[in-house]
Amino acid sequence: MQQETDLEVAIEGLINAIKERGANSVGIQLPEGFIRQARRISGEIQDRCGIPVIISGRPTYGACDIDKELLGMVDLLFHFGHAGESMGKIIFVEMRSSVDIRPVVESAIKYLKGNLISIVTTVQHLGMIKDAGEILTSAGKRPLIRKGSGDGLRYEGQVLGCNASAVDERAEEVLFIGSGRFHPEGIARITKKRVVAADPYTGRVETIDPEPLIRRRWGTIAKALGARVFGVVLSNKMGQYRKKLADEIMKEAKDHSIEAHLILLDEVREDLLINLGMDAYINTACPRIVDDMRHVILLNPDEFREVLRMRG
Ligand code: SF4
Repeated sequence: MQQETDLEVAIEGLINAIKERGANSVGIQLPEGFIRQARRISGEIQDRCGIPVIISGRPTYGACDIDKELLGMVDLLFHFGHAGESMGKIIFVEMRSSVDIRPVVESAIKYLKGNLISIVTTVQHLGMIKDAGEILTSAGKRPLIRKGSGDGLRYEGQVLGCNASAVDERAEEVLFIGSGRFHPEGIARITKKRVVAADPYTGRVETIDPEPLIRRRWGTIAKALGARVFGVVLSNKMGQYRKKLADEIMKEAKDHSIEAHLILLDEVREDLLINLGMDAYINTACPRIVDDMRHVILLNPDEFREVLRMRG
């Protein structure tokens, strides 16, 4: 099985890295979709290198989300499933899925109304993105596959939940290949384009309209217009710590005579914000956290600036 082979190749690579670097302890961190492989990876390293391995049990959502505590405890930390620039003790191990994306791309064609179609995917399915382009061309469409810009984007067609710059402005629609709604909803909201999401694991195709997603954000902005006290949320996750931005927001609030308080959090969770008891919050961490909030007002910085503009 291809997936087995990919994992075997990855394990060989990390065993070599352990030997080359003379590491005496190793940490491994895997996202949800791969976490069940942790046991096998840990077992192989222990058996073949004779060194202790610690598995991070914390969920991780991106290359921006490295387990800092674990990093401080080991000689090398292998972060699986996301693309990133390996540096120091952190080594990124990308994983490619073996699932054939072609059947679901064939199924998605009837949902695509336009002619110019941007094709994007997550790092797992990049190996077959060109096949998707060929299928679209055969169906008389014009596929657009380009590399976006920003941290963590290394390949043509690759998107992150917070970065859809691989979507070509000329595209009439977007074809997203991958599972879940997290990425396609992000793409729809960022690009304001209709997204056809094709899941190669389930074979399901869904269309995501940007309008309701955008409307929901405007609803939150409207609620924030009456807020008096704001909390400015700073994350202590390695890749999401944006102190300069948080300081700028604090200054902007002060310039508008708004009471604001800086809050440091690891996980930006709704229950923690509710406990803090402020009227509204401004998020400087992962911009997609705002989508998880149901009972608190959490704005991204550009949305807070919109509130300031509307308040006059
Ligand atoms: S900031 Fe959020 S959406 Fe962006 S890569 Fe990190 S976890 Fe994913």
